[in-house]
Amino acid sequence: MKKPISDQKHQQRMSKVKQKIDKKIAKADKEQGVSVLLTGNGKGKSSSAFGMLGRSLGYGHKCAVVQFIKGDWECGEELFFSQLPLVSYHAMGAGFTWETQNQEADKAAAEKAWVLAASLLADPDIDFLILDELTYMFNHGWLDLEMVAKAITERPANMNLVVTGRGAPNGLIEVCDTVSEIKDVKHAFRDGIKAQRGIEF
Ligand code: ATP
Ligand code: MG
Repeated sequence: MKKPISDQKHQQRMSKVKQKIDKKIAKADKEQGVSVLLTGNGKGKSSSAFGMLGRSLGYGHKCAVVQFIKGDWECGEELFFSQLPLVSYHAMGAGFTWETQNQEADKAAAEKAWVLAASLLADPDIDFLILDELTYMFNHGWLDLEMVAKAITERPANMNLVVTGRGAPNGLIEVCDTVSEIKDVKHAFRDGIKAQRGIEF
């Protein structure tokens, strides 16, 4: 076991750490919204985005959500957040391709969702926006990556944005300020455990 250090030594060390952190905080003084991209195969992308939605609402921010992929099944985030007056909630999309099995219909649904997302991205009244499962729109060429990247870059300066979805293309990684790749270590589904209300949907 590690030997405990004296209170004085601990205080000296912590004071040094504090100085370093305070310096970094003072340096990050740009007043502008951030774009966050959550990608990777592990669980936790959309639920993290909705966690930030909860935080934003705590400050009375005006928020919007576009879910690009959404079937007919219910999900807790929609049930809860869509009833709040500060949230403009849009569950779009035709579902997963292996369910619809109709490329034309999926592309049309993607384009319809994008028209809405683009108008929200350009709206200076929106403080916080989620584009949930946006990344899949590029896998099948349903949306043009450059067009989307441009709209993200040119959004109102104070708007916070969270984009989610597996396999984010480089063009999206480049235009977002904070990018996290969530790693799949293990998932209960592979052990045959049923998806849980409140955890999975
Ligand atoms: P969550 O919404 O739980 O944060 P996510 O957004 O990271 O998940 P998606 O790729 O959007 O993950 O997957 C949607 C659904 O699949 C969710 O119900 C999620 O819990 C589940 N899921 C996520 N990752 C995995 C995985 N590695 N294996 C099996 N199921 C997963
Ligand atoms: Mg998700």
